[in-house]
Amino acid sequence: PLEKQSVSIRSLINRAVQTMELRTFPLRLKIDNDIPDLQLQVDSERLLQALLNILENAIKYSRYPPKIAISGYIAGNQMLIKITDSGMGISQEDLSHIFEEFYRSDSSRHSEGTGLGLAISKRLVELHGGKITADSVVGQGTTITICLPIINE
Ligand code: ATP
Ligand code: MG
Repeated sequence: PLEKQSVSIRSLINRAVQTMELRTFPLRLKIDNDIPDLQLQVDSERLLQALLNILENAIKYSRYPPKIAISGYIAGNQMLIKITDSGMGISQEDLSHIFEEFYRSDSSRHSEGTGLGLAISKRLVELHGGKITADSVVGQGTTITICLPIINE
């Protein structure tokens, strides 16, 4: 079960970024200044875990030093968070499987991993009534988008 509280999504993104900055140096992070400072009813620790899994991939599947951009905006009754890397990218064939448990693309086998990070992120986002999607161009990079419903109580 989720432990929901009113949480600033922007500060949650900042927490995730600070954690990754402690682990990887240098990290070329660009965080959009315009991310709306919206308070949503979420389980902050679980949503933080989802963000960390995505950021970890953005770093792991990129050439060093990793370049990552994070943006966020409101579209209708949804808050969108986009995490874009400039890494190796994901083929169209692999894209349809990356949210499955234990799936790892052939091109990622040189790195450590069990193929669970994105499956867990997807579960956690869906527990919040949200959605997670991926867009990618091989050799250019990947964007993971988290969509969270804005619920007015
Ligand atoms: P784990 O996260 O459990 O340590 P993992 O990173 O292999 O292992 P996922 O995070 O679920 O597992 O990712 C699944 C697969 O999707 C990866 O093995 C990789 O092939 C691909 N992938 C995920 N994110 C990216 C990314 N940002 N760039 C390129 N490939 C990615
Ligand atoms: Mg991973």
